[in-house]
Amino acid sequence: ASIVAGAIGALSEVMGEAQRAAGATERLLELMSVKSQIQSPAHPVALPPRAANGASLTLADVTFNYPSRPDTAALAHLSLDIKPGETVAVVGPSGAGKTTLFQLFLRFYDPQLGAIKLDGVDIRQLDLHTLRDAIGIVPQDTVIFSTDAMENIRYGRAGATDAEVIQAAKLAAAHEFIERLPNGYQSFLGERGVRLSGGQRQRIAIARALLKNPPLLLLDEATSALDAESERLVQGALEAAMQGRTTVIIAHRLATVQRADRIIVMEDGKIVETGTHASLVALGGIYANLAALQFHHVHSVHAAT
Ligand code: ATP
Repeated sequence: ASIVAGAIGALSEVMGEAQRAAGATERLLELMSVKSQIQSPAHPVALPPRAANGASLTLADVTFNYPSRPDTAALAHLSLDIKPGETVAVVGPSGAGKTTLFQLFLRFYDPQLGAIKLDGVDIRQLDLHTLRDAIGIVPQDTVIFSTDAMENIRYGRAGATDAEVIQAAKLAAAHEFIERLPNGYQSFLGERGVRLSGGQRQRIAIARALLKNPPLLLLDEATSALDAESERLVQGALEAAMQGRTTVIIAHRLATVQRADRIIVMEDGKIVETGTHASLVALGGIYANLAALQFHHVHSVHAAT
């Protein structure tokens, strides 16, 4: 599942089927504010001062089941220590719990057991805005709003100056294609405006994340295959986005897992293998199978899923 779909799922558990008719974007934004069962604590704790290389993220024996499936653990006794500045790739078969992990980081749901800590603070003790301000998301299915390119990127941080937006676009390898649009940064995007390619949408999402400049970046890598040029640009943009922060990636691309500091292999809500690409291939287990069958190679012509 994707983060956006997950967010909608979390909200519809709360709001009921009737809300499913409304626009996905609105629901996502509502979810990001207040209409969830998840509430900010009455007396929130402040995060410690931000470190130069990003946040630490700790999962301590986390067990979680979705409210609608009380008998099935989507995550079971999961423990994980992610250090500031680390890049962790999460891989595993469909239904392994990868997206669920992200949803818990964002506090769309709380675990039934265990705790998740950002820079040592249980995220349930943080104001929701503090938590979500600290996390940047590059989703698989980037939402492009019906506004111009400048404002689309500015969604990353309301109040950013035009110069800051352009700087982020340059780092995200989005500047050049935006400049070539009929009206440059004033070009209207979305269904009634310029339709962007998959790779261009992803670079808009990366530009937003760069503008937000969060200590923790969650990346849900697109499963769709891109042409080689687009792939190269997206990979370069991701590289820039990971600098100076902690990154957790739901990875579908060989280039991404090869570059990760650590790969976490999940299955049935558990971590079943962990290591680097080379060590896990040598192990000849689940990861080795996935690597052989599932990953998109940078220059592959066909989607592998
Ligand atoms: P994929 O690679 O297909 O995106 P995933 O590893 O991200 O899979 P999750 O989406 O985290 O897997 O799902 C983990 C488990 O939780 C699965 O058994 C799934 O069916 C279940 N699940 C996911 N979302 C919900 C939901 N909103 N309500 C109930 N069960 C859910």
